[in-house]
Amino acid sequence: MSFEDLNLNPSIIKAIQDAGYTTPTPIQKQAIPELLAGHDIMASAQTGTGKTAAFMLPALHLLATPAKTPGRGPRVLVLTPTRELALQVSEAALKYGKYLPRTKVVSILGGMPYPLQNKLLSQPVDILVATPGRLIDHIQRGRIDFKRLEMLVLDEADRMLDMGFIDDVETIAAATPATRQTLLFSATLDGAIDKVAAKLLKSPKRIQVASQKARLDNIEQRLHYVDDMSHKNRLLNHVLRDEALKQAIVFTATKRDADTLADNLYAQGYAAAALHGDMNQRERTRTLTKLRSGGLRVLVATDVAARGIDIADITHVINFDLPKFAEDYVHRIGRTGRAGAAGVAVSFASNRDSAHLTKIERYTGQRIASHIIPGLEPRIKQRPQSSGFNGAPSVAQKRKRTPLAQNGRQNFSAPHEFKGNSNNDNGNNRRGRPFDQENRGNSFRTNSNPKAGYQSARPK
Ligand code: AMP
Repeated sequence: MSFEDLNLNPSIIKAIQDAGYTTPTPIQKQAIPELLAGHDIMASAQTGTGKTAAFMLPALHLLATPAKTPGRGPRVLVLTPTRELALQVSEAALKYGKYLPRTKVVSILGGMPYPLQNKLLSQPVDILVATPGRLIDHIQRGRIDFKRLEMLVLDEADRMLDMGFIDDVETIAAATPATRQTLLFSATLDGAIDKVAAKLLKSPKRIQVASQKARLDNIEQRLHYVDDMSHKNRLLNHVLRDEALKQAIVFTATKRDADTLADNLYAQGYAAAALHGDMNQRERTRTLTKLRSGGLRVLVATDVAARGIDIADITHVINFDLPKFAEDYVHRIGRTGRAGAAGVAVSFASNRDSAHLTKIERYTGQRIASHIIPGLEPRIKQRPQSSGFNGAPSVAQKRKRTPLAQNGRQNFSAPHEFKGNSNNDNGNNRRGRPFDQENRGNSFRTNSNPKAGYQSARPK
């Protein structure tokens, strides 16, 4: 099947050709015909599968036809959990819609000044991309007219659920016409997501794309056992010296660790910088622009901040700290191996992390092979080959994996400190999330001094 077979507007096809796409990805093949036929869909597809184009191309196709209702408000609304994802969706709208006349795309994101947003919303809008909290503010102030709205997209609905935004999402949906077409994208379509879909979608078509395993097939996963922070830093240094490494994202458990490690790497001469939710939007955009333009080789990031980053030159993802949730492991390593390229994902683990590792491996269905660097061998005893993982999960394991009390994700049980700072990535503090993912303490510390192993920071 080619893009031409999908019966999309010729201006959209032309933009797709400019983007260099030759064939639709599986999610695009399945979703686009259903969407053009006017159906609601709920699709399990993560970043990296081409899901953005799967909804943006039909959305633009819709915009190429005259609006059914007169007005100036948005005809398409995309809700995303994070600002970074919202910006990428807006960029995709501009990229695929560049040959369509007068397609106005507006992003309304938390943490950005209100006056500019008020101005943008006072003008005609076709596609509105927003994070839920800030959008609610504008709705409550009567600044958005949803009379014309024809399509509502919930992107990464599972993450919006996890972040405590689902009430906001439902309030927003209630402000839009019941005649709208609704699309829900989520990493998993579990019980909690089903409930949301039952409330907001009408007889949705369910679309499931390739398994977790297939999606990770182009990423080589390596495990390094570490004795302590100093050993971990030496191993990191070794990995970063790899000539095959063009750009890397190093994940830490906390914002403070991201800053400290970025400073440390910068002091060692690496073109490194941090990205996390404590930085203001300008700083974050500047850092991402630098990463995109190749001005940065190493980005040290937290989970929420790095979600959705899509840069072809990211050859390596390094889990300096293992993620708390197995699902985040998949999101993290999916930052490499973009659009079919090969990638390397390196994880550091202490021997206390066996349970974490087993959960990750059960979730992905893949074993992470342990590697030893000559001269940097770990002293600690490594987990035996049969650490409870036998390839594909058993039925019992699968059953155990289904929705957990709060959000249906694999929550590792290792202890972690909670520092109580409620900053989050969406500028949605007032609404609050059940927890702040970036402030969850590092569940792996082999050293009683949390800063041990880091060198002095560069002056701020
Ligand atoms: P997404 O899953 O939306 O984050 O997209 C992942 C990456 O795939 C992005 O870099 C897109 O530009 C790219 N992409 C989307 N659709 C296609 C396609 N049909 N062929 C090649 N690359 C694509």
